[in-house]
Amino acid sequence: MKNLQLKRGKEDSLLRFHPWVFSGAIQHVDEGIAEGEVVRVLKSDGGFIAIGHYQAGSIAVRVLSFRDVEIDARFWHSRLASALAMRQAIGIADNPQNNTYRLVHGEGDHLPGLIIDVYGKTAVMQAHSIGMHLSRVEIAEQLVSVMGSRIENVYYKSETTLPFMDDMENGFLYGGSDDNTAVENGLMFYVDWLRGQKTGFFVDQRENRALLERFSAGKKVLNMFCYTGGFSFYAMRGGAKLVHSVDSSAKAIELTNRNVSLNFPGDTRHKAFCEDAFKFLDSLECRTESVEFATTADSASRNSCGAVANSTLSTLNYDLIILDPPAFAKHRGALHNALKGYTRLNMKAMQKIQPGGILFTFSCSQVVTKDHFRNAVFTAAAQAHRKVRILHQLHQPADHPINIYHPEGEYLKGLVLYVE
Ligand code: SAH
Repeated sequence: MKNLQLKRGKEDSLLRFHPWVFSGAIQHVDEGIAEGEVVRVLKSDGGFIAIGHYQAGSIAVRVLSFRDVEIDARFWHSRLASALAMRQAIGIADNPQNNTYRLVHGEGDHLPGLIIDVYGKTAVMQAHSIGMHLSRVEIAEQLVSVMGSRIENVYYKSETTLPFMDDMENGFLYGGSDDNTAVENGLMFYVDWLRGQKTGFFVDQRENRALLERFSAGKKVLNMFCYTGGFSFYAMRGGAKLVHSVDSSAKAIELTNRNVSLNFPGDTRHKAFCEDAFKFLDSLECRTESVEFATTADSASRNSCGAVANSTLSTLNYDLIILDPPAFAKHRGALHNALKGYTRLNMKAMQKIQPGGILFTFSCSQVVTKDHFRNAVFTAAAQAHRKVRILHQLHQPADHPINIYHPEGEYLKGLVLYVE
């Protein structure tokens, strides 16, 4: 096995069990090492410190173990079994009302570079590192062994996460099935393993959708960035008076309509719009006239907040709005503009929401911290001149655990706001 030696003083983060080695920390790496190969990481004094997958790039090693173990079938088996045991301990696995969950969440399950989502009898596996890609068959075999009768198919989907690999092709590694429907909290949805984003569905909003359901009775709901319509069909089950779903992708609108029909065939409360979210919000009338603490000068500017008259929409008073946009910042360099984007989006929604309305607002950008996001939303509230109270602070669910030594694993943040 090849070795990689760290520069003096560069072992500190590994001593704190952080699972990455950055390229700048490397003193020497054995010649001929290939991307994806398992490498032993040595301290500057030559002592062993970790073992992991090597890859060219800023993150040079993703650590698989801090013990000098063989990375073989037994290793994968024990890591996957530990991931399943945790999901069983919290009642997420083996629940007939919910056969959709994340089984492996990368660093959060001590398997950096690997994601596995379970949809009914199918596990969808996604590699984010070349090492995991090269180990895919061995991992799939152990996955089948650990999961037993729980799964019948393993679908591998890494074309989008490792686009530079020549031999990359999505497909079944085990079994093969046309049944693409799954159940989340008793609601059905269709999973597009082939072309869908991520592994086909955003499993991470399960608990936040369930919370939304509790607030939906009698409400006029606007689900922005709806993708597969997850929040929309929960709102419908919660007794919403009307649900409008918006996404700029035609494919997403098709999936949303399909999922709503799957659960509520012929229900006329739902309507989907293929439109840019910002433009859609601009086309709604402002709802801020009733804010009591605004000055006269303020209210003049507020009343001309850019509403474009739209006969069907401008008269609607949405009183429950969901904003779940894609990550505005994919890397640290984009942080500043991303925060401006969150402020702009939230300000528009706050200007338009009915007084006494509830706003579910999210950020899934890893580089945007909880504090950054809250600050951006605070600025939006001030700019929209609305009185705003925080009701809930939301995050990713327990099947997306955060390795305590890897705080970067915390990515999903949300606020539920009461907007007067
Ligand atoms: N809320 C969804 C996940 C949202 S993913 C769920 O619960 O599953 C983000 C979605 O935003 C994608 O479907 C993407 O097509 C859409 N999107 C991206 N930019 C957009 C824009 N400017 N306006 C509307 N939708 C947009």
